Amino acid sequence: MTFHRVSFEDDDLKLKIGFIHFSSCSGCQVAFLDMFEDAVEIFDTVELVYSNLLTKRKEIPYMDVAFVEGAFCAEDPHHVKLIKELSEKAGMVIAIGGCAAFGGMRRFSCGSQMPQPSHQTFIPLTEIESIKRKVKFAIPGCPPNPSLLYNFFLAFLERNDDFLLPFEFIAQSRDASGFDLIKEVVNKGFCVGCGTCSTACPSRAISFKDVCGKPNFDADLCVRCGSCLAACPQSFKPYPQPVYT
Ligand code: SF4
Ligand code: SF4
Ligand code: SF4
Repeated sequence: MTFHRVSFEDDDLKLKIGFIHFSSCSGCQVAFLDMFEDAVEIFDTVELVYSNLLTKRKEIPYMDVAFVEGAFCAEDPHHVKLIKELSEKAGMVIAIGGCAAFGGMRRFSCGSQMPQPSHQTFIPLTEIESIKRKVKFAIPGCPPNPSLLYNFFLAFLERNDDFLLPFEFIAQSRDASGFDLIKEVVNKGFCVGCGTCSTACPSRAISFKDVCGKPNFDADLCVRCGSCLAACPQSFKPYPQPVYT
């Protein structure tokens, strides 16, 4: 894996990171802050150059790594400008959460889970031509577990490729919903009925009622966050699994 530095000053070798916000609830960025003292440790190690929540800066500066939450809205001129800036100013993009990685709540909402603002066209970063080559990793969840974010961040700073591989896989495959769990794990006979998918699901789309020993999936509740497939010990074979602590 190569880490391409776009811009850094001679006397400052800290990794420059930023948080970029598209259409989202900001829950993914807040999940970073839920790390509490671990977040302080991380923000001590890197240089936070931009965040709509944490910095006062109006202009988006050059940065080595952009952590991006939310889905791109093709009907929003501000988003069109933002995606252009991102493609020019970020060395690498990491999609945080289901909205940025798969469209999540923005694209697949139904019933009482309608997205706001109520545009028709939401696109995850992994599908935008001008930016998708820069999306090296995608972190599943709605929002991702703060412990998972912390472990990802440590692995990223330490260049722990073994740990990072599933996240790279998720960014490339984009198939990480409850549907894919059923198709890739349950229907292929890999499921061992451990229940991890059910506890990882934020919308209670997976239960164990009615189906003996195997997960019961309610498609109407799934927001395509990818947590179930990422947490399942029987998925992504032969890839190592992210560690939830
Ligand atoms: S993935 Fe979930 S928590 Fe993150 S921005 Fe989207 S709706 Fe909010
Ligand atoms: S079933 Fe649950 S955990 Fe899996 S993608 Fe859907 S909402 Fe996320
Ligand atoms: S996490 Fe995987 S193995 Fe465990 S019950 Fe769910 S589908 Fe089956």
